[in-house]
Amino acid sequence: MLSHSRSMKVTSINPRTGEKLWEFRPTSARRLDEALAKAKKGQEAWWGRTSRETRVEVLREMERVFAKAKDEVVDLAYLELGVPKRSIAASYDSAMRGFQHYIRRYEAFQDRPFPLDPALWLNTEASIRYEPLGVIGHIGVWNFPFWQTMITTVPALLTGNAVLFKPSELTTATGLRIAGLVHESGVPEDVYVPIIGGVEVGRRLVGSGVDAIVFTGSIGAGMSIARRAGTRPLILELSGNDPGIVCADADLEQAARGVATGTFSRAGQVCIRVKRVYVHRSIAEGFIDRLVKIAAGLDVREQVGPMIRAEARDRVHGLVQDAVSKGAKLLTGGNKAFGPGYFYEPTVLLIKDDSLEVIAKETFGPVCSVRVVEDEEEALRLANDSPYGLGATIWTKDSGKASILASRLQAGNIWVNEWGRSLTGGEYFQGCKCSGIASSQERLGLFLRKKSVILHRTPEPRPSWF
Ligand code: NAD
Repeated sequence: MLSHSRSMKVTSINPRTGEKLWEFRPTSARRLDEALAKAKKGQEAWWGRTSRETRVEVLREMERVFAKAKDEVVDLAYLELGVPKRSIAASYDSAMRGFQHYIRRYEAFQDRPFPLDPALWLNTEASIRYEPLGVIGHIGVWNFPFWQTMITTVPALLTGNAVLFKPSELTTATGLRIAGLVHESGVPEDVYVPIIGGVEVGRRLVGSGVDAIVFTGSIGAGMSIARRAGTRPLILELSGNDPGIVCADADLEQAARGVATGTFSRAGQVCIRVKRVYVHRSIAEGFIDRLVKIAAGLDVREQVGPMIRAEARDRVHGLVQDAVSKGAKLLTGGNKAFGPGYFYEPTVLLIKDDSLEVIAKETFGPVCSVRVVEDEEEALRLANDSPYGLGATIWTKDSGKASILASRLQAGNIWVNEWGRSLTGGEYFQGCKCSGIASSQERLGLFLRKKSVILHRTPEPRPSWF
């Protein structure tokens, strides 16, 4: 977890140069209370006095507005985030596909009758109704400032919720522009309210009377929020420490390139980054040679990008140095890149045990820890021997084996010979174990509650009543 500033001002910094971009005044406790009171009223109207069709129309308009604003938002996110622009643009396009997906899926969430056995339920009917959660406190993260925001904004608004949205303090400008565009699309200002600030403001938002909380970020913060949320619905999207299993029959070129992309892109600041690799001894040399060659040949500025802050880079560098001092072999990288900005060289470590911090915990930077294993059973045991359960990759030509490994891996998202592409609009993207609250629901359902209504149609009391 990055230690966020507790000072009064929220500062945007360009991580490519280290230059300060903007400062923002955090939302005060009083303004937060006012925003919540407004949003409670706004939500009543957005749900109670706005038809489903009207909300769908507004969301369609929002899709048009965001499609037009793509270059502007991508440029802004690039300034605050620094990672290669084409990667930001690709995640923008991917988030945009969520509009149509959720609008279509909303059809399935119609109030519906529940069939009753007339012999047991004379003159009675029952229905299941879907209702919004109310006002959602949405605490955002910086590494995918558009994607992570939209996979909540779209389903939450469509289903009749209001949102108090606090973007990460590291990407405030992008978050505020997204909120502005949401309003330009026709969503009332009291239905989608931006909140500015860091940890303190986030805590206050959790402690306020919001009806539900959506949080993306570190496990530590997520656990603290879980303790304070009480019985309110909670969507937690937390840290990962994703294993990659490279089987003896993997296509080495594909595996090396896939792992390199999965571990180094966006400077490794991706929740589903391939963070630890277990490679079968019989092909380890060929795989590692390829991986190291790719890592050493990457253009750090153009292909990898900077880390978000100097202190994040210092932390990653410290983990690499700690691992090397305890016996890990540094195969490439291991240095802060020369020049302005917070760049770090793509780094590959050969590791013999999993107790080193660089592999035991989530390392949020361009560092790939590789361990050679004797067989797939050992790989599976090590992969699962972790409190994290966000994602995992499997590299093999044998789809039957892949399917068995996929079912035995303790993670919410599995990729075989593939990395990082999520289902449309973030559908079913959930971790298990400490990485999130696993659920069998599709995403739209997470923003609705069900209500059962049992209606007895005649005036006479039931025979069993006193
Ligand atoms: P973080 O937990 O430090 O901060 C995330 C957000 O939470 C920020 O808006 C911050 O202001 C707020 N916050 C922090 N502590 C809080 C608290 N106690 N109460 C309320 N709000 C609080 O996260 P980070 O380190 O900046 O982000 C990177 C982490 O996010 C990584 O661990 C990464 O794996 C994870 N992540 C997960 C997913 C996912 O979908 N599972 C997606 C992206 C990032």
